[in-house]
Amino acid sequence: MKRVDFLSLQGINARFTEQFNSAFAEINASGWYINGKFVKKFEAEFAQYCHAEFCASVANGLDALELILKSYLQLGLLAKGDEVIVPANTFIATILSVSNVGLIPRLVEPDPVTFNLSSANLQSHLTNKTKAIIGVHLYGQLFDLNIVKFAKENNLLLIEDAAQAHGASSDGLVAGSIGDAAAFSFYPGKNLGALGDGGAVTTNNKKVYEMIKMISNYGSSAKYVHDVIGQNSRLDEIQAALLSIKLKALNADNSRRQKIANLYSEKIHSKFLELPAFDKNSNSHVFHLYVVLSPERDRLKNYLSEKGIETLIHYPIPPHRQKAYQGILEGNYPITDKIHEQCLSLPISPILTDEEINYVISTINSFN
Ligand SMILES: *Cc1c(COP(=O)(O)O)cnc(C)c1O
Repeated sequence: MKRVDFLSLQGINARFTEQFNSAFAEINASGWYINGKFVKKFEAEFAQYCHAEFCASVANGLDALELILKSYLQLGLLAKGDEVIVPANTFIATILSVSNVGLIPRLVEPDPVTFNLSSANLQSHLTNKTKAIIGVHLYGQLFDLNIVKFAKENNLLLIEDAAQAHGASSDGLVAGSIGDAAAFSFYPGKNLGALGDGGAVTTNNKKVYEMIKMISNYGSSAKYVHDVIGQNSRLDEIQAALLSIKLKALNADNSRRQKIANLYSEKIHSKFLELPAFDKNSNSHVFHLYVVLSPERDRLKNYLSEKGIETLIHYPIPPHRQKAYQGILEGNYPITDKIHEQCLSLPISPILTDEEINYVISTINSFN
């Protein structure tokens, strides 16, 4: 039987084995493992890649989000109890970052077609406590860019959760420099993934950058001098070196993902499936995930599994229905519920072969 992996991390990283090995040998021999030249180099490269002035690498994507909010709290741009708008259908980390630092998440339903926040339905969620929006570029697709204008007009901070959207861009705007600050994750399965945990904040705001650098390094401005309550959230030299190597391949990898998405969208014809909406002629979707909706999702998933095709669900339970947020996240979110009941992520990765893609397409087209 054919076997199509959802995402072979082993295969993705095998392409870089020689370069990884020589980077590791150099770092091992140097005796310098934290806050060294590889971290500095990667931060400079990633800032440039995102068209941002500054990049602060951190330990993971959740920390990146939390550190942005903590820096705003420290700088007096936010205060405990302020409300932050977040999409109701995001990965739970987006919402955790808000509630973990003493802010109030206000869930907003996504656009049913793009699965992303759209500027049209934000106005009715504003209260006099609303101070920020975290827009998620979900599945790799930029959120509605009218949100930038909406945030400015309403004096709101705009934070990008770009954990799924490394390299997405539209009309000269690049994920990571669209809002006031952006959070990235380098979790192994992301479009730019480390061989472990990693994350970064990009921003054009020097004060925010410096505050995040300080908080993430024990609140320390100079060694053993602590100006603010800090934490330990750092990317290490080895992960930074590996990420520098992989960053060079990111554009080609994203193009391959887009090629696969276009093939799926052109060739999958099934009355059981709704295919994702995206702009074919732009770089605004980098297809971290290719997500379809199907009223027969579970039957389709089992069928594909029997045919050797691995699929995943992003995500099976929406945040407002998680036990962790019982009694905290209130309200009805029918669009979000429908997406979670019907969504299915098809295999997509830069190393999927044409043969595998065609097999996925023909197998789905024979589903009945
Ligand atoms: C992966 C992810 C995060 C969290 O990143 P970690 O590195 O796993 O902490 C946050 N938001 C979104 C949308 C993600 O997909």
